[in-house]
Amino acid sequence: MENLRFKRVLLKLSGEALAGPKGFGIDPDTVIAFCKEIVEAASLGVELAMVIGGGNIFRGMSASASGMDRASADYMGMLATVMNAVAVQDALEKMGLSTRVLSAITMQEVCEPYIRRRAIRHLEKGRVVICAAGTGNPYFTTDTAAALRAMELKSQVIIKGTKVNGIYDKDPKKYDDAVMFNKLTYMEVLEKQLRVMDTTAVSLAMDNNMPIVVFNMFVPGNLKLVVTGDRARTIVE
Ligand code: UDP
Repeated sequence: MENLRFKRVLLKLSGEALAGPKGFGIDPDTVIAFCKEIVEAASLGVELAMVIGGGNIFRGMSASASGMDRASADYMGMLATVMNAVAVQDALEKMGLSTRVLSAITMQEVCEPYIRRRAIRHLEKGRVVICAAGTGNPYFTTDTAAALRAMELKSQVIIKGTKVNGIYDKDPKKYDDAVMFNKLTYMEVLEKQLRVMDTTAVSLAMDNNMPIVVFNMFVPGNLKLVVTGDRARTIVE
């Protein structure tokens, strides 16, 4: 085990990250590319828990805006995260990692139920724990689930993989002069309304002193660099 900055991390991957160029659904090549990054980081000996989003398949808010009951739509969103989790599990296991999907909504034919102590035991045994179905409650997001699981599982940090290198003052995909922050406080993220995680997630992290690292998941080798602490990215603490 060499030069690990973090011993246990919680990686948040949005569903959209799995969609690839199509922008919708699960793109197998994209999943494989991400999983290679995860295998590389795990090979360093870091204990890795993940929370996977579902926005590539279903988003409760959008469906409720079109007239669907919000809670029902949110349950559909949570089910979408289970599909993503099983896809990532399949790819990781083909690459030789030992994994468990733990769902906040019981689905025993598909995966284990989320039980905190069990999740910690899996991590101690070197298994990658993939947390599915968000918090299990409507009106939340998988960002909030990531903050919650990070605390419960005693992770040292939430690592959020995005399409850009960190947190910027404005959308770097739209504005050439967008400036990236190296370091921010939770309050700055909230006050400046920086769109990195929703306010519930940031507040929960703030109240419990859980650092958030935002980095570019699309650059090969980046996750390993974040885990070893050696990389340009934004840290919120
Ligand atoms: N969701 C929920 N409760 C949770 C987590 C997720 O109701 O604790 C639902 C919500 O409808 C959300 C959808 O699942 O829109 C997919 O999650 P999210 O939007 O966070 O996915 P991401 O943006 O990370 O792909």
